[in-house]
Amino acid sequence: MSDRTYDCDLVVAGTGMAGMAAALFAARRGLSVVQAGSTGEIVFASGLFDVLGVHPMAEGRRLASPWEGMARLAADEPKHPYGVIAPSRMKDALAEFTGWLEAHGLPYRNGGDSNVRVLSPMGTVKTSWAVPSTMWAGVEALAEKKPCLLVDFEGLREYSARQIADTVGGAWPGLRTVRVEFPGTPMRPLLTGIMGQALELRVTREQLAEVIRPHLGDCACVGLPAILGIFHPGTVLAEMEAMLGVPVFEIPTLPASVPGLRLKNVFEGHIGTEGVDLMLQRKVLDVHRQDGALQVSIGQGSVERVVRARGMILATGRFLGHGLFAERDRIRETVLDLPVHQPAGRSQWHSLDLFDPAGHPVSRAGVVTDSSFRPVDEEGRVLHEDVRCVGTLLAHQDWMRQKCGVGLAVGSSAVAVDAFVAQFSAG
Ligand SMILES: Cc1cc2nc3c(=O)[nH]c(=O)nc-3n(C[C@H](O)[C@H](O)[C@H](O)COP(=O)(O)OP(=O)(O)OC[C@H]3O[C@@H](n4cnc5c(N)ncnc54)[C@H](O)[C@@H]3O)c2cc1C
Repeated sequence: MSDRTYDCDLVVAGTGMAGMAAALFAARRGLSVVQAGSTGEIVFASGLFDVLGVHPMAEGRRLASPWEGMARLAADEPKHPYGVIAPSRMKDALAEFTGWLEAHGLPYRNGGDSNVRVLSPMGTVKTSWAVPSTMWAGVEALAEKKPCLLVDFEGLREYSARQIADTVGGAWPGLRTVRVEFPGTPMRPLLTGIMGQALELRVTREQLAEVIRPHLGDCACVGLPAILGIFHPGTVLAEMEAMLGVPVFEIPTLPASVPGLRLKNVFEGHIGTEGVDLMLQRKVLDVHRQDGALQVSIGQGSVERVVRARGMILATGRFLGHGLFAERDRIRETVLDLPVHQPAGRSQWHSLDLFDPAGHPVSRAGVVTDSSFRPVDEEGRVLHEDVRCVGTLLAHQDWMRQKCGVGLAVGSSAVAVDAFVAQFSAG
């Protein structure tokens, strides 16, 4: 380890969606940022950007508008993190976030004031707010029930066009399916990542169009699993559409997914150009205070760098991301050992009904914060003036059932960064 101490405004712990949003917003507002984490979790994401799809959760009611839903959620569940994120701030933050992705070759399309409905790989219909542009023709096809050909591939185990069509059933009479050979690779089982890479080549796109064309009939669009290129999905989509003569769309696949891989590549490849000092595959190992500033030790096993920071954003996620850790008798926050709101004992973590629409108490465990996402104790007293927690680490939300994963990540990061900017400029 070098004995030099680096100075910066903010350390961001975490490189999931929340950490990336926080680092991006902070850097674009002129703060110097050091960021540490592993982007591995992002490849598990489906690529859809949910803001708020369901409320009230126990009734499983799908929301037509995420913004109206946010207002109702904040009134019904004032402790939910959305209670302190104004819908207007959320809209601006999402526009900045998706605008940045588009500038780096990953455009998204959204429903404006409405949620959209998207086919899931199981054939169920999911409510979300924004989808990669490569999925948009599927949103329209589903809404209008256009005659459509769903294609799947010999050897691709995790995705079945037939299963999707069976689940959709009579609700979409013009849906047909076909199973074809994916050109150019004898590999079995087939992996979506490999197919995505293969489709970066024009010759594979031409061969795939050749294979699909005889099955088109009177279909007005073609749905494929999400495999339309890793680095140039816009080009791959446009060429497939030109060669087939109809709109083409992707259907999300199970994790790890190509849309997740695209997000990971864009973040890893371009966050540095915003001035963020990204320490990939590194963790925040220790935090202590010296002369009023945070001293943050970062490394992989052993300390590689000590950073003196004016503030820190914890975007370390839940159990999968390792921001929370389940010990035998309690759930622990892993970086600062912050208090974690949690059920009284393990026996109360889960409802007896696995599919309880009201969810499981453990899903709402997390760090409780004030209106600018500073961690607080049980009496509501701020524990660290210079630390803010964002994303799925937060308590009182159930992002998976409420369908609010990316909205929570982006909205809380925006509010936390706004607060740091105001705090630093006040001296
Ligand atoms: C299978 C799956 C499907 C999903 N589908 C959707 C969807 O359809 N729509 C949607 O909106 N959202 C979806 N999400 C959620 C979304 O992708 C994000 O996971 C979520 O929005 C935000 O996660 P996060 O950044 O809070 O945490 P995570 O993504 O868990 O990231 C946590 C980060 O913290 C890092 N970390 C942990 N400890 C440390 C430490 N000590 N120091 C430094 N870094 C540390 C980890 O390396 C990681 O980078 C899905 C997630 C999963 C897992």
